[in-house]
Amino acid sequence: MKILPIEQNSSTSFFIPATETKEKILLSTPHMTGNEMKYIQEAFASNWIAPVGPNVDKFEEELAAYTGAAGGAALSSGTAAIHLALHLLGIGKGDRVFCSSLTFVASANPILYEGAEPVFIDAEEETWNMSPVALRKAFLAAADEGKLPKAVVIVNLYGQSAQMDELLEICNEYGVPIVEDAAESLGSSYKGKSSGTFGKFGIFSFNGNKIITASSGGMLISNDTETIKKARFLASQAKDPAPYYKHHEIGYNYRLSNVLAGIGRAQLEAIDERVAARRAVYERYAAGLGDIEAIEFQPEPKGTFSNRWLTAFTLNPDLTALVPENIKRALAAEEIESRNVWNPLHSQELFKDAQFFSHGDGEAVSEKIFRHGLCLPSGSNMTEEQQERVIRVIRSLFNN
Ligand SMILES: *Cc1c(COP(=O)(O)O)cnc(C)c1O
Repeated sequence: MKILPIEQNSSTSFFIPATETKEKILLSTPHMTGNEMKYIQEAFASNWIAPVGPNVDKFEEELAAYTGAAGGAALSSGTAAIHLALHLLGIGKGDRVFCSSLTFVASANPILYEGAEPVFIDAEEETWNMSPVALRKAFLAAADEGKLPKAVVIVNLYGQSAQMDELLEICNEYGVPIVEDAAESLGSSYKGKSSGTFGKFGIFSFNGNKIITASSGGMLISNDTETIKKARFLASQAKDPAPYYKHHEIGYNYRLSNVLAGIGRAQLEAIDERVAARRAVYERYAAGLGDIEAIEFQPEPKGTFSNRWLTAFTLNPDLTALVPENIKRALAAEEIESRNVWNPLHSQELFKDAQFFSHGDGEAVSEKIFRHGLCLPSGSNMTEEQQERVIRVIRSLFNN
């Protein structure tokens, strides 16, 4: 039996028998630095095994410092961070919230938690993010109706920043605050400014497949430190300062564990390396597949810097008969995982009653990107050999 060494990450390797298993290549796997155990052990040594403790405080300070935000609240998930952001903006029953349509359902679920009404905004080809044209249409229609949104949730898809200047200008004109869903874009920037710092609130996720992970977790950031304090209060059951149990408003159990915050701290120390590695993954795909004209990678417009969390592309139907499903199946047959682009939220049954504003006439841009799009394995711990395998499978389909 032949044994192949498999590089799992920078610090460990393991062995699998080559005759029994073809080595699996996954979309995006955790990539440990080796320092995680140090912070976990500190938590154990001091017995801070709780959703409070020094790792939580330090993780908040370090992430805020990294992004340039004034403060951060470490939370149990990115979804919890979006929920608290909306709650802190006073969004409640019947209120309206605009949200990018081409995104993960977690961007919009918290709108429903608050009993508010989501209105979905189409994408644009330039960034795959919220279209300023569609946003303008939505505001005009809402103003006509006399019911403006109370917030706009803007997503930075796969690490690529939306066109913040254009979107901010429209939102500012109507005085509506932004929640920047930067769950996928930690380490990215727009005109030199860190992703997540453009709105009243920014949110990050440290779920297992994100660019850095705490196994699970999230962060709410803002330049309004009083509101961040309030977020910590709400996230720990909204206990009023009193020598007995006293409550005057609804609270949540949303704080991040001090053990997990330790993982997050070690991961954050490596964020710039992780961004460089993901960008290198993209560069290799671009070099290996760039001559196939039908493949159009997610653009990175001038002035923006993407962490390239996932390398994604669309197939131009005028140039190939292949559809993403063909590529997905061929890759799966070789034990390689790929994923469809997010299915636009306005076409989900969950949101069937929600309004939607399209970028142009005809098919929505978000639907088009979904129908023609695919995400490739993009982990920062992928080897060049693994990427070669992915590229070979895809090339073989175009050579036929
Ligand atoms: C991952 C993700 C979230 C949710 O983060 P969790 O930590 O998994 O709750 C929200 N929005 C987007 C765009 C995401 O990719």
